[in-house]
Amino acid sequence: MLFSAAPAVVSPVPNAEAPRDCPLCPRLVRFREDCRVEHPDWWNSPVPVWGDPGAWLAVVGMAPGKHGANRTGRPFTGDYAGELLYATLLKHKLGEGEYRADPGDGVRLTGAVILNAVKCLPPANKPEPGEIATCRTYFEAALGQLPNLRVLVALGAIAHAATARALGMRPAQARFGHGAEVTAPSGQVLLSSYHTSRYNQNTGRLDAAMFDAVIERAIMLGRGSNGGGTGKPE
Ligand code: SF4
Repeated sequence: MLFSAAPAVVSPVPNAEAPRDCPLCPRLVRFREDCRVEHPDWWNSPVPVWGDPGAWLAVVGMAPGKHGANRTGRPFTGDYAGELLYATLLKHKLGEGEYRADPGDGVRLTGAVILNAVKCLPPANKPEPGEIATCRTYFEAALGQLPNLRVLVALGAIAHAATARALGMRPAQARFGHGAEVTAPSGQVLLSSYHTSRYNQNTGRLDAAMFDAVIERAIMLGRGSNGGGTGKPE
């Protein structure tokens, strides 16, 4: 193998994970192989779901960032977008520990999971529609194996559309907008947020207060959830 980084996190849904050399998206496989040559010590593989098996909340990103999850193997870990995400989750007691942008930092999510609609790094940070559709197999399987899941926060329009489809809705039934929310046929609530990307934060499209408000709303919606155990909304 050309890469050496071992997974530092254990998936809460191991039966829903893709094999490390998943062959289903040829373009992403080629890009993965290029990254393995360029950075043999990076993760460079489908990024597993991470968090609490009893999660009532799922935070959904579009796809791994090159220097974040694709490098470290833990969702949103190691890139700019993860800084605000983890700070906000920890602030609201949806995790324990001190985030240090490293999958070995000892952070533990409580009541929450983080995952991506597409598990592999896409070129130019843009998955193609066919790749989103193909990886939905894993995405839906993961959601289906989280029995207490009640609220999903999608970061960005692409993650939002993919999550709406995974929950059995057409995108037209679940329009994207910061703070928008829709209830799926399952009764689960899909909340959308602008992505915590560096671009969105630097341009002022999203700030910490705006993102905090979405997570606070998720916690409010999660009240009365019968799931979670740890991290259950109070
Ligand atoms: S994006 Fe998903 S379906 Fe496509 S190769 Fe990666 S793990 Fe497999």
